[in-house]
Amino acid sequence: MESYEILESTGVATRDMFENLLPSSERRAKGPYIVMECYEEIPCNPCVTSCKFGAVQMEELNKCPHVDYEKCVGCANCVSHCPGLACFMINETVGDGKIDITFPYELKPVPAKGDIVNALDRKGAVVGKAEIVRVLSGPRMDHTNVITMRVDQELIYDARNISLE
Ligand code: SF4
Ligand code: SF4
Repeated sequence: MESYEILESTGVATRDMFENLLPSSERRAKGPYIVMECYEEIPCNPCVTSCKFGAVQMEELNKCPHVDYEKCVGCANCVSHCPGLACFMINETVGDGKIDITFPYELKPVPAKGDIVNALDRKGAVVGKAEIVRVLSGPRMDHTNVITMRVDQELIYDARNISLE
């Protein structure tokens, strides 16, 4: 089955769809970068308007966003402004076989820095442990909690959310 057919029937993007979005290995080695897992063409563009660095382009409102990775500074502003919860920031420069994944979190209670939680995959299954290393919230984040979890490097595709138990 083709990747997009799998997405349509399961709601879960395949690994190759995710990998096709990634910047060059040189850019990945420089620091945090955004990945916009926005695979379907929908009339939406807060990712464009919320980026103060002009790093997100869209041919027209019904197209998928395109990121200019030379301009993306990894500020996470788009993570909180995306209504589709489709923007994730990844930092592969952490070291010790770990990476940081930043994601929007709309559940309660909100975890605190230092908490050890379960990392969940795209279907909600536990795939490992995560350490919470940053929690952003408030007006600057459009009142959406933006959480950064530290996980094993191999979870770069899988880890997309957390559970606190
Ligand atoms: S992380 Fe910041 S700089 Fe990068 S695309 Fe999002 S808003 Fe723009
Ligand atoms: S704001 Fe989010 S859902 Fe809307 S087009 Fe951008 S990435 Fe997709």
